[in-house]
Amino acid sequence: MAIKIDEAAIAKILDWTRPSRIVFNAPDGLLSQTRKLASDLESKYKLQAIVISDPTYGSCDTVDIDAQRLGAQVAFHVGHNVTVKKFGKITYSIDAYDDILFDKAILSAEKELKALNYNTVGLVAFAQHVNELDSASKILGRDGFKTVVGKGMGQLQDGQIFGCEFYPAFNIRDRVDAMILLGHSMFHAIGLCLSTGKPTFMLDPYENQAINVQKTAEERLKKAVLAIYKARDATKVGVIIGLKEGQMMTDQSIKIKSQLEKLGKEVQLIALREITADRINSMTEIEAFVQTGCPRISLDGYTFSKPVLSVPQTDALINLLSGKEIQMDLFERKNWL
Ligand code: SF4
Repeated sequence: MAIKIDEAAIAKILDWTRPSRIVFNAPDGLLSQTRKLASDLESKYKLQAIVISDPTYGSCDTVDIDAQRLGAQVAFHVGHNVTVKKFGKITYSIDAYDDILFDKAILSAEKELKALNYNTVGLVAFAQHVNELDSASKILGRDGFKTVVGKGMGQLQDGQIFGCEFYPAFNIRDRVDAMILLGHSMFHAIGLCLSTGKPTFMLDPYENQAINVQKTAEERLKKAVLAIYKARDATKVGVIIGLKEGQMMTDQSIKIKSQLEKLGKEVQLIALREITADRINSMTEIEAFVQTGCPRISLDGYTFSKPVLSVPQTDALINLLSGKEIQMDLFERKNWL
């Protein structure tokens, strides 16, 4: 059982482009494999291979411009399995799939579903497990459950979600009793639960468990709402533009600045590549932040000592400052960008 990088796709691109220098970037879980692959390719193709080893969390984290600055003719962004195969000028998306099976974890899920009388389930996966959706659907169908896999959209394949985009799940939420996520990722499971508003089970194929994530998602929602109330009381607000290639939303950030100013806030525009507690704490005069980079930094960033709001939370803050109450379904959206 292992995650397999689509080396055949890389070979095809190298045979066709014959570069003298290439760049890789990949999520932490695939970096060591990627480094080995880079060394193998150096020998095989007589080229120079550079692995950018900064944190890489999504297909928003491509390094097309850095790769060009490093003098590469080709860059490979590994492991996010999106429908878009080329980014920027020289970057190719390379798939990587986990070959672990879900048969036993699905049996655990079936027990939970039966106990709660859920008959129709939405099947969802993150990148590494998308190729297991069909077989999961067959097993559940054999055992008397109806399954629905939502159509892909944008960069997402059928049934796939990111931590911030949920179209295939959101669009089927009214047709199912519950959602099932293939793969052990509380990050994706919480996003799935909050964006669809449905009971959500996370299937861990390594421990063969089905974990109901609803309580954890509700706790995360409460913290997110509390941060909005805290931000309401701030005089000075920072609006952070994410500097990562797929995250930069300058126009949206400027619009938010102007909306908050009209509602009486003093607002400063800030740009950051990594939005961390250290960087937030260093801006001592700013009492609250909103950020248009990665929404999950706000939802999962427990280490912040000040409010750092995502776009859905910012919309709720603007409503609150305009005299409307916060709705607890504020994350029930197709995407959180
Ligand atoms: S913005 Fe955040 S959640 Fe969305 S793809 Fe990038 S890292 Fe993942």
